[in-house]
Amino acid sequence: MEIIDAHVHTLECGIMCGGDVNVEFAEVNSGLKDRGIERALLMPINDTSWQPVKKMNDYLVDIVSRNKEYVGFIDIDISKAHFYGGIKELESEIVHYYNQGLKGIKVHLQNLGVYADDWRLLPVYRLAGELDLPITIHCHPGSPPGLSDHSNPIAIEKIVRVFHKTEFIIAHFGGIKYFYDMLHLNHNNVYFETSGIMPVLVQYVDKKTIARVFQEIGYEKIMFGSDFPTADIDHTITILRELIPEENLADVMSKNILTFGQKYDWW
Ligand SMILES: [Zn+2]
Repeated sequence: MEIIDAHVHTLECGIMCGGDVNVEFAEVNSGLKDRGIERALLMPINDTSWQPVKKMNDYLVDIVSRNKEYVGFIDIDISKAHFYGGIKELESEIVHYYNQGLKGIKVHLQNLGVYADDWRLLPVYRLAGELDLPITIHCHPGSPPGLSDHSNPIAIEKIVRVFHKTEFIIAHFGGIKYFYDMLHLNHNNVYFETSGIMPVLVQYVDKKTIARVFQEIGYEKIMFGSDFPTADIDHTITILRELIPEENLADVMSKNILTFGQKYDWW
């Protein structure tokens, strides 16, 4: 069965998780290929303290131009958006990297330190609609130190309703804290991916309940994502094989993302 990963990290700086995880492209690429995973979406992290954004975007442009099996998402920096010309600069960066071949935008609310309905993100959503780019939104309480509430689905829900012509992929299924709220985010323009959360989720929520939420959302709305190499990809695959009915498994593991990606010329 083909597996395509909706959430993989490789950074220009080469390391993540405080330096504990090697995310150099050669390492990540061979780790995926060893598991028979030929295609993936590459996610930046919106963390200017760790990975400068321009370098990150140039790095992804270089990778995707040489490796057509990968799709790169645009990294954003909203920290200067409130300065003179800041919004125009933010927009022109997105347009520039869209023209360079990146085919989605990553919004990591925790790392940006804002809620989804923050004014500085509104031009990002608007521009995504104009350029016809999908947005992956981080939705999980953790990531930077402490318990940040920035990816609270209440703010995300307003945005996916307002920007109903733009398609959103919710990353990490809300974590444990927001898991049940995913049912409220399930609008027509919203999809979900499983990265980084399944091994933890099964420790707190019984598998029948997880399967029930998945079923209610609809297996056609769910895509496999791992957060590789910062999370255990093999365990995530094993859990999904157990949870998802046989007749829906191929959809989640690859067919849904292929159908979705056709609209955006991903592969
Ligand atoms: Zn991630």
